Amino acid sequence: MNTANQSDRITRIPVKPVVIPRDKHIISRSSISDNALKVLYRLKNAGYKAFLVGGSVRDLLLGREPKDFDVVTDARPEQIRELFRNCHLIGRRFRLAHVRFGLEIIEVSTFRASHNVTADDDGHSKDGRILRDNVYGDIDDDVWRRDFTVNALFYNIEDFTVLDYVGAMQDITDGQLRLIGDPVQRFTEDPVRLLRAVRFAVKLGFRIHPQAEQSIHQLGHLLEEIPPARLFEEVLKLFMGGYALQTFEMLRHYDLFKYLFPQTERILNEEEGGFPHMFLIQALKNTDQRISEEKTVNPAFLLAALLWEPLQKLANDCMANGLSEMESIQLAGDSVISRQISGTAMPRRFTQIAREIWSLQPRLKNRTPKRVLRLTEHPRFRAAYDFLLLRAQAGEAIQDLADWWTAYLAKTGDKVEADAQKARPHPPRLRRRRRRRGSDKPPSS
Ligand code: ATP
Ligand code: MG
Repeated sequence: MNTANQSDRITRIPVKPVVIPRDKHIISRSSISDNALKVLYRLKNAGYKAFLVGGSVRDLLLGREPKDFDVVTDARPEQIRELFRNCHLIGRRFRLAHVRFGLEIIEVSTFRASHNVTADDDGHSKDGRILRDNVYGDIDDDVWRRDFTVNALFYNIEDFTVLDYVGAMQDITDGQLRLIGDPVQRFTEDPVRLLRAVRFAVKLGFRIHPQAEQSIHQLGHLLEEIPPARLFEEVLKLFMGGYALQTFEMLRHYDLFKYLFPQTERILNEEEGGFPHMFLIQALKNTDQRISEEKTVNPAFLLAALLWEPLQKLANDCMANGLSEMESIQLAGDSVISRQISGTAMPRRFTQIAREIWSLQPRLKNRTPKRVLRLTEHPRFRAAYDFLLLRAQAGEAIQDLADWWTAYLAKTGDKVEADAQKARPHPPRLRRRRRRRGSDKPPSS
């Protein structure tokens, strides 16, 4: 496959966008965040081009509330910084500006070209992956580096038109997720797009274009090349977006789940027909339910749930070899986590909490008053209790134990909950975190 040539075909043909005037689309300024508007207008008033782009335009056209607003401009990062006091430049490989307004961050990037529009060096690895993506361009370059057509619409603050270079409006109408260009090439350039396809298909309720679908079935193995830290970011987005159960099912359908949670996949495949255990389904449903109620979800809890099946299996093996239940869970926990992070690097603050949730499970069986008091003071008690409830809901023979704890907590009132709230870590910011400190790094890479 000659990837450079194929992409030259995409990038070099001058394409005029379809311009959708203000009265032919539904995006109104009242549905754009005030801060994003401020950024757009300030850029425009300083003489730069400024567009809303990506997920926010897509979501507004679908009548959905965007998660965040991204802006793209012809101003260079230093020029952006001059315009905004509250602005940080981030990123080593490609500099972006973050303009901060309290909790809201508007990401402002400069138009970029796919590296391959420059003829000298095509910026790809031998196997076609993008290694560099750091050449400034204009809007008609920028459009081609985006992944799906529906993510490549531009809302122009100059005249409130929407620019469509790639037939995205039709795909929005048809509810179709289509890659820009050749699916094999675009997935190969950046295999994370395989996961993004699933995430967007579920989130938007779109069907994946048949050609892309076929490529997903063939190219999953490319995910093995993705750095573990990047995979973890994607895992969070996949499972913390409010559609964890559907996402899990679709990932399994395309045989991608095994690249994210290989140990869990192995256990699921040992089941008759590969059906997931009730526990996993229940945990994912629960996560979605909490998110829809705007409650916090701790990624560590989800991690503990996603790895519970392999953990139990290994712990049972240890117990069969004569270790105590407590020792077995700790030993199995270490092993399951260290295998997991060789594929997806989980920050230690999450893996540690997952271990604690598991270790507290046998301790919850002990109901002597002294132990009970000590347990309720444990910072992970509440999470461990929730985990126990989930196990009971999923049909484990521990309903009596779960009921006992529920009754105990009802009796002791809100104190335990208040303490637990204090101890509970804040939910992570999914999007804007750039650096991971103290990451539970995989042994190699
Ligand atoms: P979400 O609703 O999840 O924020 P989004 O479309 O805004 O969806 P982001 O990950 O925030 O997705 O990325 C913003 C935009 O950047 C995308 O819409 C797309 O145009 C482009 N983009 C992001 N990641 C990639 C990628 N891996 N390959 C190509 N384009 C990408
Ligand atoms: Mg976005």
